[in-house]
Amino acid sequence: MPGEFQIIREHFRRKQRDAALLVGIGDDGAVLRPREDHDLVVVTDTIVRGRHFPERFAAADIGWRALAVNLSDIAAMGAAPRFAFLNLALEEADDNWLRDFAGGFFSLAEQSGTLLAGGDTVRGPLSVTVTVIGEVARDAACTRAGARAGDYVCVTGTPGDAAAGLELLQAGADDEHPLVRRFRRPEPRLRAGRTLAGIATAMIDVSDGLLADLGHVLEASGAGARIEVSRLPVSAALADHAEKPAEYVLAGGDDYELCFTVPEERLEAVKGLDCRVSIIGRITAERGLRVLDANGREWRPERRGWDHFRNAHG
Ligand code: ADP
Ligand code: MG
Repeated sequence: MPGEFQIIREHFRRKQRDAALLVGIGDDGAVLRPREDHDLVVVTDTIVRGRHFPERFAAADIGWRALAVNLSDIAAMGAAPRFAFLNLALEEADDNWLRDFAGGFFSLAEQSGTLLAGGDTVRGPLSVTVTVIGEVARDAACTRAGARAGDYVCVTGTPGDAAAGLELLQAGADDEHPLVRRFRRPEPRLRAGRTLAGIATAMIDVSDGLLADLGHVLEASGAGARIEVSRLPVSAALADHAEKPAEYVLAGGDDYELCFTVPEERLEAVKGLDCRVSIIGRITAERGLRVLDANGREWRPERRGWDHFRNAHG
C-alpha cells in the first residue's frame, strides 16, 4: 500500500521504552523477552465494519474497540497484557481517520500498559485485527473448565447496558448517553481478572451475552447451573430504558464483563475486587442451564435476534 511506511511512522510508531521489548516496530520482527516464571497468554480478534460495529462508528471508537475486545480475553484468562500487534486493512489512507483511530487505540493501550510492538498495513475493506500477548504467573491462567458443583456464579458490572446502548445508538441517541457510552467504550476488566486468577475456578468474558457465554463455561466444565433472575444486576440507566431489563442482562452482548465461578470458601476474596460483583446463581452437578424467575418458574426469553452484532463474533 503506498505510504505504508509513512502511516506507520506517523500514527503507530511511538516512543516506548520497555526492558521486555528488545526490538519493536521498524524491523522484520519484534523481539520480546518473557518474564521468568510466567506463562504467555496470546489472544487475537478481528473486528469488521457492519458486523462488529455499526457502519457509522467513530474512528476513535473503532481503535478503542479493536484493542478492548482483546484485552477482555486477556482479563478472562487472569493475565496482564504486555504487547499488541495491529493488522489494519484500510480502504484509503485518510490521515484524519488514522489519527482518530490511533488516538482511541493508544488511549486504551496506555492506560492498560500494553505496548504496540508490530503489525501490518494493507489496502482492503476496513478490518482490524489485534493480537495481544499477556503474561500470567506460571500455571495460574484461569480457563473455562474448572467450575465445580456448588460454586457460586458471579458477574462483574452491569451486563445488558451495551446492548441497550447499541439500540439507542442506532435510534440516533447522543454519543454521550451513558448506555451508548457503554457500547462505544467497553472497559475490559483487567484488574479484576488478574485478582481472580487465584480465586475463580473458571472464567469467561461476556461478549456474546451472559447466558451464551456461561454456557461455554458449563460445557467446558462438564457441569450445569441455576441462575436467579432476581439476583441479576441492573444498572439504573438500563432500568430506565428497558421494560424487561433481564432480557438485556441475560442475552445482550458486547459488555465485556467477566463471568466466573468461585467456591464458597473463597467468596470473601471476591469482595476485594475493584468493581461491582453480583452472585447470580450456583453451579449444579446436573447438566443444563436453568434460569428461574422470582416465583421459581423457568424463565424464557421473549425476544430473539434483537441484537444485531451479538452473534457475529465468529
Ligand atoms: P515487512 O514487509 O517486512 O513485513 P512491514 O513494512 O509490513 O514489514 O512492516 C514494517 C514494520 O512496521 C514492522 O515492524 C511491522 O511490525 C510494523 N507495522 C506495520 N504495520 C503496522 C501497524 N499497523 N501497526 C504497528 N506496526 C506496524
Ligand atoms: Mg508486512
